[in-house]
Amino acid sequence: MSYQYQENLALDAQQRYSVKLKLIGLDICPYKVPADTWINDPKQWPAFEYQDVFHYLIKHPRIYSAEAMENYRSLEAHTFFVSGWVQTVFHMKTDSGHYVLKADVKPSWRVTEKPHHPWVALKKSGPVIAAHCNCMAGLGETCSHIGALLFKIEAAVRLGYTSSTCTDRPCE
Ligand SMILES: [Zn+2]
Repeated sequence: MSYQYQENLALDAQQRYSVKLKLIGLDICPYKVPADTWINDPKQWPAFEYQDVFHYLIKHPRIYSAEAMENYRSLEAHTFFVSGWVQTVFHMKTDSGHYVLKADVKPSWRVTEKPHHPWVALKKSGPVIAAHCNCMAGLGETCSHIGALLFKIEAAVRLGYTSSTCTDRPCE
């Protein structure tokens, strides 16, 4: 993965990318953020739910229709997630209080193939603000790698690996 990812994009894609970064309060491309800035601690993740996955993915009907989402377990993105091809998820907080989460996603079971690098930006309350991936489809904000990353985050919240579930709240 090139450190100069943003600089190597075509001009119009580069402009769209800058707008996206501004939207989430980043002045530097996530691909340039130093490794030690990223945190491996699901306890700090936002309260991301299935409805957030659903809303984000159907917003881009070129790939996922509402009908396709009804049957989401058959989607390639979901297969990537359940096959374990989404690696460890790391996150960082932006200056505007949003969260950027990223993970490498292997394209298949073959170890020799290079992973893709999706990232997603979430509000603290859950909804997706923006997403990106370095694959060709990822430029348009929806590819199966982004979808797979969203499914993994959603599952972690649902299974109680984060602090944003009801099981973690003090008893009242
Ligand atoms: Zn991708």
